[in-house]
Amino acid sequence: MEVDVNVLPQKKQHIVGEEKKKKFAKADSFRIGPYRRLIQVGFLLVVLWIGVEFVLFVSQLEKGILPTIDRPPGVEAFLPISALISLRYWILTGVLNNIHPASVVLFLIILATAVFLKKGFCSWVCPFGWFSEMLDKLHMKIFDRRFHLPRWLDYPLRSLKYLLMFFFVWAVLVQMNIIDLHKFIYSPYNRVADIKMMKFFAEMSSATFWTLVILVALSTLIPYFWCRYLCPYGALLGMLSWLSPLKIHRNEETCTDCGLCTKVCPSNIKVDKSRVVWSDECHACLQCVDACPVKDTLYLSVTKRRFRLSRKAYAFIIILLFLVGTSVARLTGHWQNGISKEEYLYHIKRLDDPIYLHNQGQVPNYEMEKWGPPVPTH
Ligand code: SF4
Ligand code: SF4
Repeated sequence: MEVDVNVLPQKKQHIVGEEKKKKFAKADSFRIGPYRRLIQVGFLLVVLWIGVEFVLFVSQLEKGILPTIDRPPGVEAFLPISALISLRYWILTGVLNNIHPASVVLFLIILATAVFLKKGFCSWVCPFGWFSEMLDKLHMKIFDRRFHLPRWLDYPLRSLKYLLMFFFVWAVLVQMNIIDLHKFIYSPYNRVADIKMMKFFAEMSSATFWTLVILVALSTLIPYFWCRYLCPYGALLGMLSWLSPLKIHRNEETCTDCGLCTKVCPSNIKVDKSRVVWSDECHACLQCVDACPVKDTLYLSVTKRRFRLSRKAYAFIIILLFLVGTSVARLTGHWQNGISKEEYLYHIKRLDDPIYLHNQGQVPNYEMEKWGPPVPTH
């Protein structure tokens, strides 16, 4: 006869748990955690390398010389709004513009990770995710346990990132018509959006500086504050991750209710009470799977019994998506942008001119025929 452990009194539950421990095989000692850290650091080094190259590129431009190094297209990963605008323009016109094509490629790869691999981008690739994890470790060192906000505060705060995300999506998908999209993409502002973004941080105002300090302090006090409450990219990926066929599954028959999985979960998900983890906050860090002491009790899978994916295979696929996606873009000529070094030299001297500014997504009027192809009529 099958015993429903949850309806038994606590002492009896413990005994059943102990019996299960004896009965079921121990999980192997393999841990994906160290490999995930290695992959995170690998992506972080790539981002830092891109940053150094880009800073050198811009500093040569500022000296008034044609850069001897190429601008790294990967810097466009930090232009998600431009990517969303370009993506919509591509869908409407069939034209993938050559101003920031790598931004679209990286945006699509990141969306694909969410659709197929849950929110793995946040805990395997994103440098801000890595930084939040480091702050979480600092938090644990200081307080010895994780603080979580009470539900009544946690839920409304979590909706903030969705509001931000819906605002951007609404502004691009609803508010902008094809002429607006065209005007933004080929504007002088968008052409130098990467340089502007760099300068925003390199020459940050005291308001930006203190905002960052407050965010770091909040993320140390309340782990993953930025990711959980404010990141609109994370909100988009969280929504898409509901589509992911892959989920964390818990085998109730072999689970001993030890609660270790819930204890280690940085997203405060009650893994030990779920048969399948559906939460949009699950970023597939796999710490729960690593922590589970019983063999084949927590695992990544499409259904309870079929299409399981090992932790190693998951790590391999997430890297593969980036390698294949960026390689295809390179081979098809959608990686490097079409702005020459001479043109960058022209722009850099004029960065403070009014046509290089923008106001809440509105680009100033400029001579469209001078800067871009004709506006598509269909
Ligand atoms: S449920 Fe597991 S994989 Fe998801 S965030 Fe929590 S520990 Fe990570
Ligand atoms: S770690 Fe979670 S899934 Fe594994 S046995 Fe303990 S409670 Fe069950």
